[in-house]
Amino acid sequence: MRRNLTLLMVFALTLTSSLFSAFAQQPAVIYHGGDILTMRGPSPEYVEALAVQDGKILFAGTLAEAQELAGANSKQIDLAGKTLLPGFIDTHGHFVYFGKNLVDANLFNCADIAELVARMKKQVELTPADAWIVGFGYQARSMKEGRPPTSAELDQISADRPVMVVDSSGHLGAANAAAFKAAGITADTPDPTGGMFTRGSDGKSLLGPMEETALNAVRAKRPPFTGELAARAITGAADVWAGYGQTTAMEAGLGLGNDDIGIVLNAIDKKLLTIDLYIAAKDSALDDTIAAAYSVGSQYNPQPSGVVEKLRAARPDLDDRYVNRARMGGVKFWLDGSLDTAWFTQPYTENPAGKTGAFSGYRQIPDETLDAVFDKYWPTELQIHMHMNGDAAADQALRAIAKAVKKHGMRDHRPVFVHATWLRTDQIALIKEYGAVPSFLTAGIIPGGDSVVRLWGPERSAGAMASRTFLRAGLPFTFSHDAPVSPTPSILALVDAGVNRLSGSGKVVGPDERIPPYDALRAVTATAAYQLKEEKSKGTLEAGKLADLVVLDKNPLKVEPTTIKDILVLETIKEGNTVFKR
Ligand SMILES: [Zn+2]
Repeated sequence: MRRNLTLLMVFALTLTSSLFSAFAQQPAVIYHGGDILTMRGPSPEYVEALAVQDGKILFAGTLAEAQELAGANSKQIDLAGKTLLPGFIDTHGHFVYFGKNLVDANLFNCADIAELVARMKKQVELTPADAWIVGFGYQARSMKEGRPPTSAELDQISADRPVMVVDSSGHLGAANAAAFKAAGITADTPDPTGGMFTRGSDGKSLLGPMEETALNAVRAKRPPFTGELAARAITGAADVWAGYGQTTAMEAGLGLGNDDIGIVLNAIDKKLLTIDLYIAAKDSALDDTIAAAYSVGSQYNPQPSGVVEKLRAARPDLDDRYVNRARMGGVKFWLDGSLDTAWFTQPYTENPAGKTGAFSGYRQIPDETLDAVFDKYWPTELQIHMHMNGDAAADQALRAIAKAVKKHGMRDHRPVFVHATWLRTDQIALIKEYGAVPSFLTAGIIPGGDSVVRLWGPERSAGAMASRTFLRAGLPFTFSHDAPVSPTPSILALVDAGVNRLSGSGKVVGPDERIPPYDALRAVTATAAYQLKEEKSKGTLEAGKLADLVVLDKNPLKVEPTTIKDILVLETIKEGNTVFKR
């Protein structure tokens, strides 16, 4: 009897406390004392205080009201004049690919081969015994010797373990004898089409350096990242993304590497992700086109893979929601090339190097392939992401959408026009009709802006990344870094580039398409959430949304616009938890 009474009391107490926590709404944290920019609506809106509880925003409004909600246990955080914004959202990046690069030794700016060898020696200790020792990023012509290292020099790093170095272009590299052996390549192996192994004076023996497809033949034999290396790729990338204020990352091409799926599944199983990862899976239909589309394409897995099917087989729940912070949200296709291989309806103004006659770039896939993609995915929840730089590529996308709409009806699909660098006015009208969202690679203006002016001519360069045109028309657009195409996934650099449009040489490329800082910030917060179809839970500071936040040392709306890129991310908070702090 006594025991029953105790149980009853425990039950009653449990009930009371759970009722209390359900209805009392005692905020865990209240932020105040700085610029709290909600990013809601077309013009800047500040609130005095933000209350966060259980990973969600409980309240955004006056300090007095927030304090009324506060209880004795609430933590007060004085921003001391800093700026609080919704966490930044990556709308087109290559999170997994970037993470894999991080695992390798950083060989950028090596002064000479001795320095390269020294940096690689440090990598030996960091590399599991069964893995290759790999470095990335040197430039042969910038090193004192003006040439890549030889097998003999790489043997100083390790003579019995495979050692491989890849230059910053990703097209040239060198290997030691152990790596050639592991790859099954001998002095008798002929050069593959489109590449070569550097050989000794006998014309046979392998000296170490290799180019293009020869490099790929060795690289393809590198063991896939598993275990510790797979984990390091994810945690390393998550730290870098969070360091730039991002609470949601994107892998826009999962399956480009043959170990990508395993890396992501490992991250899900071991709960390695500290920020959300939206996955756009590479669909097998484009496999034979990748190498031509991207200079980095040669590093990618050329084999058909069926990434969507493989992911679904392993984790059918990834389609619907974040599972341990990963979600499959889309599929990714490449329709044309980069700035010197973009597919246009009109020829280049000045031909890129090596091109003669009327050159208007390259189509990557036939219409039938893309039509089949739309037939398959338009009626589903998976968004279709299409890489395009030229207007002929945008035409191809719009033709495919028109057919899908005719067959399946209009849907809230939000196809993503990745880069969408040059669009004609008539195309923008169709983009509006179909609800497509362009993600402009504004970061590309700095390295590529001057070339675009020269190669694409005045009209196409001035109207490239038509942010202002979209803004005026009330149409959604986002900004993206495409890291590692941009060497760092800095969101504030994108905002700065969208506001200032300064090329590498300091010229304003397309002054009429510059937009105010607030609108540029919307492109990486509220509209970015919309592009990912996650606007119900992310992108603005509003009650009920996730407490995904970033704290900046300065307010981007209050600094000299060309210094936006220099603003520091001080803290990144994912669902109430600090995932980065400077
Ligand atoms: Zn990309």
